[in-house]
Amino acid sequence: MFAVDLITFSAILLFGITLFAGIVRWYYDRRERLLHDHRRYQTVFYCIRCGKIYSRPRQREVSACPHCGFENTRMKF
Ligand SMILES: [Zn+2]
Repeated sequence: MFAVDLITFSAILLFGITLFAGIVRWYYDRRERLLHDHRRYQTVFYCIRCGKIYSRPRQREVSACPHCGFENTRMKF
């Protein structure tokens, strides 16, 4: 039979657990990014005509105001 001492067994077990935790973390990081990217990347605009603040998904430089239709450039922080 194949004999393994305690140190080798512990090292293999520890390596396996670390690898498993790494894979789980990678999976959930990726899942989180895919699910929330569209919410995170919003561009904020301030309408200089009617004074309303609104946001649009994704990165863009110019967007029309939903209240009055005026084309505003994005806010820079
Ligand atoms: Zn407006």
